[in-house]
Amino acid sequence: MSIENQINELREELRGHNYNYYILDTTVISDYEFDMKLKQLQELEKKYPEFYDPNSPTLRVGGEITKNFETIVHEHRMYSLDNSYSREDLLDWEKRIKKLVDGEISYTCELKYDGASISLTYEEGVLIRAVTRGDGIQGDNVTTNVKTINSVPLKLKGDFPPKFDIRGEIVLPYDGFAKMNQERIAAGEEPYANPRNTASGSLKLQDSSETAKRPLDCLLYAITGDKLGITSQLESLRKARAWGFKVPIESKSANSIEEVLDFIAYWDEHRHNLPYETDGVVIKVNDLQQQEELGFTSKAPRWAMAYKFKAEQVSSILHEITYQVGRTGAITPVANLEPVLLAGTTVKRASLHNADQIEKLDIRVGDTVFVEKGGEIIPKIIAVDFQKRDLDSQPTQYITQCPECQTPLIRKEGEAQHYCPNYDGCPPQIIGRIQHYISRKAMDIEGLGGETVALLVNEGLIVNYADLYELKKEQVVPLERMADKSAGNLIVGIEKSKEIPFERVLFGLGIRYVGETVAKKLAKHYKFIDAIIEASEEELVNVDEIGIKIAKSVVEFFSSEKNKALIKRLQDYGVQLEVSAEKLANQTDTLQGQVFVISGVFEKVSRNELKKMIEDNGGKVSSSISSKTSFVIAGANMGPSKLEKAKALEISIINEDEFLSKVK
Ligand code: AMP
Ligand code: ZN
Repeated sequence: MSIENQINELREELRGHNYNYYILDTTVISDYEFDMKLKQLQELEKKYPEFYDPNSPTLRVGGEITKNFETIVHEHRMYSLDNSYSREDLLDWEKRIKKLVDGEISYTCELKYDGASISLTYEEGVLIRAVTRGDGIQGDNVTTNVKTINSVPLKLKGDFPPKFDIRGEIVLPYDGFAKMNQERIAAGEEPYANPRNTASGSLKLQDSSETAKRPLDCLLYAITGDKLGITSQLESLRKARAWGFKVPIESKSANSIEEVLDFIAYWDEHRHNLPYETDGVVIKVNDLQQQEELGFTSKAPRWAMAYKFKAEQVSSILHEITYQVGRTGAITPVANLEPVLLAGTTVKRASLHNADQIEKLDIRVGDTVFVEKGGEIIPKIIAVDFQKRDLDSQPTQYITQCPECQTPLIRKEGEAQHYCPNYDGCPPQIIGRIQHYISRKAMDIEGLGGETVALLVNEGLIVNYADLYELKKEQVVPLERMADKSAGNLIVGIEKSKEIPFERVLFGLGIRYVGETVAKKLAKHYKFIDAIIEASEEELVNVDEIGIKIAKSVVEFFSSEKNKALIKRLQDYGVQLEVSAEKLANQTDTLQGQVFVISGVFEKVSRNELKKMIEDNGGKVSSSISSKTSFVIAGANMGPSKLEKAKALEISIINEDEFLSKVK
């Protein structure tokens, strides 16, 4: 046998053993035999480097070092999930989706694994890339580390599509986690706080041989890609399993919300017997075409819902209440607690929300309080243990002055939060606004981070975001932890931000209630900043999805002479304060006032492209047919009840080509 064949055969054999051991949980050969074969392969590979294979089983032991994890934009966005907590929540959800799709709906119930989400890309059956979720749009390339996880197949078996992404969760099972902690304690080190954070930390280790030592596992739950020939979620789980992935077998189909609730009730009790942490159940519409019809909100799929198991509670002592000032001047009270272990993490702080909450629960310093951790990162206080209260305890007096600038606080009609009105002089507000301006979803200024902003403000170099554009390298170099190179990068980063499109600049201005989506809507509608500055409340509320609260806030922002002066300066520096000519050229008003419903599957363009074309040409997309619908664009397999409804309401039904000729 040739050397190449010998190497390949060994690789195949070891892959098979890995699969049996890590995916199927069975062993065919002894550990010793396995190690010997692995060693043999390692030696051959070393001697004959010409047969290198980036997916050889020998690479499981790691060794490659990653200094900086490269940022990768996800080809398909990684969404979050909406949460539900009760039967009513689930029934409401079902009601919502039944309005949007035709036919019977059946569901898939899966456990919600609590780890670090990951997206794996396979091409021709080979693992090409592993990327963390990051902010859902882009994440970190952690391929070298993920390759060391034994249950991640490096090569697939069977009848897989040529290219697809598969999503899942990297978890650290309890016993492996406990063993790691025993070793740390024995070595005199601090134990890790919880499996989830340790799992995600493990993906970002620079030395992949360190990752290899951690007993991580990878559980998969979703396939994405084009032309996969899969029609349901259950089928995709089954197929992924057949291609060699570890797909937990607990998943089950349910034909009604009642059956979903049975699954939840069972696992709420039995989940503690699973080898890894779970924090809920994920319910998905099983039919992929229905999923496609339902689509996504800006945050999460409409076709999926997480059901969170009831949070754990503990009691602790409240030592102190401190107050934080946000970028909008909003004050948040924070409870500082005696550290206590809760759902696997040590908790020292809890949110108190606002003055009303403190008063309602009658929370006082020195109290023993009950703390609960739900989905939020920061736990909350849910009640006081009055029996343990000291006799001389005094009610909490909410602060009346800003803890940062001593300005008397105000509280607007109908709002729960107190505010520091010192817009121009309160340090956390000044810093917070600039930090928001430079943040990733706004101007995304490379080379400038939140701490540097604070430093620049504290050194008196800037007081607002327009000042950034006046910064000189010589001013920045002498700052703490700055060097010639980093100062240079900072200046270049600021310069480059002048290319950031208008909608993101608008978001970066930090107008209250103007988030990413609203900024997009405003930019698209008005096209120039001056048009927005001049818009009245009445005009603004006429823009799609802009309510009175937002309109008031926009008008208030631009009625300030100071803000107008800032905008003027940004304009003079060359920041994009209008929609670019190129973008405008692609936009028309051809479909102004027309409402489209898209249904079925299309040949030439995807649903998303259709949507974009409609919006770029001034039209609107709606998910359900009503008397307001102007056209239904029908593809193959349009739902029968939609068809009926469109006919009953006498709405024109057009096909893909007819639509395309409209926008040509
Ligand atoms: P959340 O982070 O609470 O918004 O929940 C969304 C996350 O749940 C996703 O990003 C996944 O990482 C994770 N997740 C865990 N198990 C599943 C599952 N079976 N299906 C979908 N997502 C899951
Ligand atoms: Zn203040």
